[in-house]
Amino acid sequence: MRGFILNTVRVRDEDLIVRILTKKEILTLYRFYGSRHSYINVGYLIDFTVEESPKATIKRLRNVTQIPFSFLFDLEKMLNYKIFLNLFNKHLSDITKIDDFYYNLLIDIVNDLEKRDSKRFLLESYVKLLEKEGRLHKDFICFLCEKEIKGNIALARAFLPAHEKCIYEKGFDKEKIKELFENKKSLLFNDEEIEKLWKIMNLGF
Ligand SMILES: [Zn+2]
Repeated sequence: MRGFILNTVRVRDEDLIVRILTKKEILTLYRFYGSRHSYINVGYLIDFTVEESPKATIKRLRNVTQIPFSFLFDLEKMLNYKIFLNLFNKHLSDITKIDDFYYNLLIDIVNDLEKRDSKRFLLESYVKLLEKEGRLHKDFICFLCEKEIKGNIALARAFLPAHEKCIYEKGFDKEKIKELFENKKSLLFNDEEIEKLWKIMNLGF
């Protein structure tokens, strides 16, 4: 089986409870400590097997091999990827069965992050996730006063559109937001605006 490590929790000194996103489900597995075992780290893509254990309530994680990706030693890309993964994990915290969209989204990220600016690419991926979940509001109606937004578009948590005056935040140029929401492209934003969008995403998926 193949999957992404979403989260690990240390138990009994060195053992781990590991949460793994596969194509169709999120597994929670137990990993016994072994000094020759390969390293388990959030965000890694791994091949593994699941071992049933009749007495335990939790299945065991076995035969782990890490599938390397090209940006593994790029500190900035790895950091931003892990921030994204943590938000992603929190968002999917109560889920076991899952649409393969989520696995495929992470596959696209690990395949292409090397070539792209990491924040821009991860923001575009986040917008795809919002759209998939029916939470991307392209009609530009303010979520607070429910009136149309004619000028700049301010964004609240989960990129909810609002009037600048309604959430007391400086907005973004409408054409730039349209390009991001409709074509999933961040190229019109300058770096300062990308930082602002990154901060809003960090409020939570
Ligand atoms: Zn408003």
